[in-house]
Amino acid sequence: ILVSDIMYQNFYSVSRDETIENASILMVKKKVNHLPVISKDGKLEGIVTSWDITKAVACKITGLDEIITRNVKYVYAGEKIETASSIMENYSISALPVIDSENRIIGMVTSESISALIGRFN
Ligand code: SAM
Repeated sequence: ILVSDIMYQNFYSVSRDETIENASILMVKKKVNHLPVISKDGKLEGIVTSWDITKAVACKITGLDEIITRNVKYVYAGEKIETASSIMENYSISALPVIDSENRIIGMVTSESISALIGRFN
């Protein structure tokens, strides 16, 4: 089974000049915890999560740019889901952007996508 078989193609993203408030509103509205940060031409620049927003509130940080994780882990659509699981396990993260060879984001794979897959076998 490949990443492309389980990735969500209708994902939501933000740009780095967005406000923390707007990113939070998007997370609540769309019921997601992870938002990839993308440039104007669709390239992956980082990720921001509800955990980062919690941290911003706790530390009174006001700029989204300051809480973005830039060293973002990702996978390619043609990789095996086991690879995605190992990356998530090794780095204690629960979502990975899926990118193409030009670093453009084409989907998201999350621990939920893996659970949904396992649930299908029951
Ligand atoms: N092992 C992580 C650490 O030491 O920072 C713990 C993860 S922590 C609960 C959540 C952090 O992981 C957040 O700052 C978030 O931005 C980051 N994160 C989530 N998904 C990520 C990804 N795909 N690549 C890199 N960082 C990610």
